[in-house]
Amino acid sequence: MMTTTLFDIHPTTASRIDSVDLSNPVFGSVFSDHQFRMDFEGGEWKTGVIEPYADMSISPAAMVFHYGQAIFEGMKAFRQPDGGVALFRPIENIRRFNKSAERMCMPQIDEGVFLSALLELIRIDKHWVPDGDSSCLYIRPFMVATEAHVGVRPSEQYRFMIMTCPVGAYYKGNVRVKVETFFTRAAPGGTGYAKAAGNYAASLKPAAMARDQGYDQILWTDAVEHKYIEESGTMNVMFVLNGKVVSPSLGDTVLSGITRDSVLKIAASKGLDIEERKISVSELKAAVESGALTEAFGVGTAATMTPIESIGFPEGDLSLPPVDTWEVMPMLAHRLDDLRRGKGDDPFGWRVLL
Ligand SMILES: *Cc1c(COP(=O)(O)O)cnc(C)c1O
Repeated sequence: MMTTTLFDIHPTTASRIDSVDLSNPVFGSVFSDHQFRMDFEGGEWKTGVIEPYADMSISPAAMVFHYGQAIFEGMKAFRQPDGGVALFRPIENIRRFNKSAERMCMPQIDEGVFLSALLELIRIDKHWVPDGDSSCLYIRPFMVATEAHVGVRPSEQYRFMIMTCPVGAYYKGNVRVKVETFFTRAAPGGTGYAKAAGNYAASLKPAAMARDQGYDQILWTDAVEHKYIEESGTMNVMFVLNGKVVSPSLGDTVLSGITRDSVLKIAASKGLDIEERKISVSELKAAVESGALTEAFGVGTAATMTPIESIGFPEGDLSLPPVDTWEVMPMLAHRLDDLRRGKGDDPFGWRVLL
């Protein structure tokens, strides 16, 4: 066993790396050699450990199984031109994780401890970071309630873990979205701004129904009037409207995406006008019909940017201009990719090298 200043480290004696085709990993099914684990008990976090990735034993009464205190993050590490590895804006993920924890009555994690855990874990599994043009290491931190107790109240014990997966291109193709006017993703006063597991469980049925109707994804509208656009599936959404980059404003029903924030900042730096505001379904429909809307896309860490080729309104589907004629989204995607992969300078200070 090795000890760093902060964590215990039990390196694997049987790396699985030679059994994995890193040039073509399947998204989300291949896990790197190590995991980070840290338990909360008696009102404090115990010493964290980096250990071989493995199944774990947990009580059937663990409160996460019954009352759903579970939150997560999704972030990525990228191979740099000099062979190094950089995380992209990890502090933003750490802060959002603590916001999610606060909403779910779960304990905060010290930002420095969280960042050290990320850096140590990825250092030990550095050879798992693929170097393909569209590959990277996907990082999944999460926290669950582990106290064995039946009865609704916040758990007094938690487990925080980080696991990582080498991933290749996550290309969904162009998507057809359905404006959802019955189901809701997030209500005012609810948990929509948190990356809480239950939000995703609740979205599965509406998503499955949309797929049955021939759509790939849902364009969520507000829970009160179903009048304003909020997000697309599990991504934020952006529109190019009269040449401006427009995205629904944040609030407690829209998850504050780091990709969204990055893309808006890049767009502004390129001299594009950006607007964060309410966008109604009727404004969107009129803009598609008039040709004022030229591009629409989802933005999020997993897929980065997903072009929307058509929008299913209650009155019928409308197609956008062909994706291969778009100019704004490809330019923004290219710049974001360069910033993440260490190509060119980093005026925003977004890269954090291991
Ligand atoms: C994670 C997530 C996003 C995107 O956030 P990023 O920080 O860009 O990955 C958007 N919407 C929802 C609902 C999400 O869970």
